Amino acid sequence: MNPFAPHSFLNSHLSGLEEYTPIQPFEVLSKRLGIPASQIVKLDANENPYGPLPAVVEALAEYPYYHIYPDPQQSELREALSGFIGVPADHILPGQGADELLDYICRLFLAPGDAILNTPPTFGMYSFDAKLQGAEVIDVWRRADYSVDVEGIEKILDIGYFVGDDTSPIPNTQYPIPNPQSPIPKLLFLTAPNNPSGTWLADDDLRRLLALPLVVVLDEAYVEFANQPSRAGWVLEHGNLIVLRTFSKAAGIAGLRLGYGIFPSWLMPHLWKFKQPYNVNVAASVAGLASLRHTDQITAVVEKLKTERDRLYAELSTIPYLHPYPSEANFVLCRVEGREAAALKQSLEGQGILVRYYNKPGLDNCIRISVGRPEQTDRLLAALRQV
Ligand SMILES: *Cc1c(COP(=O)(O)O)cnc(C)c1O
Repeated sequence: MNPFAPHSFLNSHLSGLEEYTPIQPFEVLSKRLGIPASQIVKLDANENPYGPLPAVVEALAEYPYYHIYPDPQQSELREALSGFIGVPADHILPGQGADELLDYICRLFLAPGDAILNTPPTFGMYSFDAKLQGAEVIDVWRRADYSVDVEGIEKILDIGYFVGDDTSPIPNTQYPIPNPQSPIPKLLFLTAPNNPSGTWLADDDLRRLLALPLVVVLDEAYVEFANQPSRAGWVLEHGNLIVLRTFSKAAGIAGLRLGYGIFPSWLMPHLWKFKQPYNVNVAASVAGLASLRHTDQITAVVEKLKTERDRLYAELSTIPYLHPYPSEANFVLCRVEGREAAALKQSLEGQGILVRYYNKPGLDNCIRISVGRPEQTDRLLAALRQV
């Protein structure tokens, strides 16, 4: 037996990392609950309940060249995206979901000894991908209303030291302890609308943050649902801004994995060196192109979901034990008051209604409900009123 211990060769910064906690697959849950998948009201992952457009399903069925490798340059898709967002194609790179681009960005900028600035509570992948590179995560907690603490971020960069303000949902002790040896943060991750709070980030705040010596990654996974415009075009004026978008939420093809980034010119050659040639598969590309030929229909679905979000929010506000937060996205975060959110989630699950449950700093005793079809909202509301 070879006495050599191969695991000792693993990158040491990986050993302490935890696995990403996935949500249970739909089919597994359906079996466990004994409820047919078609009867389950799935409001736990912000997917689009209307799914892909009929034209997308048709395009996928008719495409004749699945036996041919994808175009590594993704030229047709990039041109179509350029027409859609009004930014030249040579700033655009599609990926296997926005998630793949987050991973690329972290691998391009971060190594052990570097840091990112994160604004929790927010999407988990930023800190996950940063830690995979051995980078540190400096948390600047959002305020009680989940707005970004812009002054807090400015202070960290000014003096490498930060004390929280009193409106924060988190006790001051949880802020980073001043440490002169702290690594310098390179990347700032922002999300507008934020997941899971649905909060927007105002133009003025974004401008202030763009003035800092940081590369700002603005994740716009839910921007189509906001009553505010995308900032994708800002990339042309700000050499330190990256904007990420996706087909997973508004376009309803989360399972096909298609996202894209809008990057400053200087970064594109590095991304091209770095990118796996066939990262976006042919089916995702066909579906993306078909979606972009019918953006009017996507807008119509988004409008339907926005109307339903507003109804969901209004109805949730009438439930005595829930405190919903206003949302610019296709979900509503609620604080559960005077009872256990975990028990509420369980009780809903028993009736085939899935919501996301949180119990962590800034999100204690919370649930997040994705916007579904009206009949799904009705089933959820009836169940919430009964418990
Ligand atoms: C869902 C989500 C994504 C992931 O997008 P994909 O394109 O499916 O990888 C990115 N950011 C946020 C904030 C999300 O909620």
